Amino acid sequence: MEVILADYLGFCYGVKRAIKIARENASADGTACTLGPIIHNPQMVDRLRREGVGSVDSLEEMEKGTVIIRSHGVGPAVYDEAKARGLELVDATCPHVKKAQLSAKELVDEGYSVVIIGEKNHPEVKSIFEWSSGRAQIIETEEEADGIEPCGKLGIVCQTTFSGARFRQIVMRLLEKSRDIKILRTICTATDQRQAAAIDLASKVDLMLVIGGKNSANTTRLAQLCSEKCLTYHIETAAELHDEWFDKIKKIGITAGASTPDWIIKEVYKKCQNR
Ligand code: SF4
Repeated sequence: MEVILADYLGFCYGVKRAIKIARENASADGTACTLGPIIHNPQMVDRLRREGVGSVDSLEEMEKGTVIIRSHGVGPAVYDEAKARGLELVDATCPHVKKAQLSAKELVDEGYSVVIIGEKNHPEVKSIFEWSSGRAQIIETEEEADGIEPCGKLGIVCQTTFSGARFRQIVMRLLEKSRDIKILRTICTATDQRQAAAIDLASKVDLMLVIGGKNSANTTRLAQLCSEKCLTYHIETAAELHDEWFDKIKKIGITAGASTPDWIIKEVYKKCQNR
């Protein structure tokens, strides 16, 4: 049985950076916390907790210490609230996300009606929305683009992890909405690279294993794309592998979401190789 890793898989630049920043600010007395889980991976969140970085859902849970902003970013009100509560704030927002946030703000300041293309409930999209002072419209389908009212000046920004192909399709539907359109393609290449590599590998193997948190949107999307090419299982750890999956399988492909730690990928890889 041959086991092949995708050309691009696992932690992206922004996640690696956020975890490094979190570790640098770990505290033995439990007063360093990320606002929300640092990434959508329960195993990594547990490991960081043991290393001295906890997680809170709201600043109200913190009386003192350091709040670490994760790579998804937050709106400006959180910076103000942390200051008002006397908390130290360490910003691990991914620079690509920061660019999308500031782009939305600048467009609003310049008088543009702003459209954010992205998933409405994604924390990053919510943060971009908040940087637009709550004045942007969030859309994620062509039909929703059709519903945008024509306006004098239209500015478009995008969730960093949105599909480049779908972004283009939606933008095409927005072109007729205004004569003055500013398109800021705030998409990060990490997602497209991982998706293209996963699809390529899934076309060449009998079975794909997609590793990552079940609560990770980008991992779930990878699994969905791979399942269109071959038999695919979405797992969080090597413990979920089942012997019967491998009957008559000659080639296995492995990919992992941008929030999947290397040590979990290695465990799955080794377990498959040992068969
Ligand atoms: Fe940053 Fe891209 Fe990773 Fe998102 S996917 S955290 S934008 S590097």
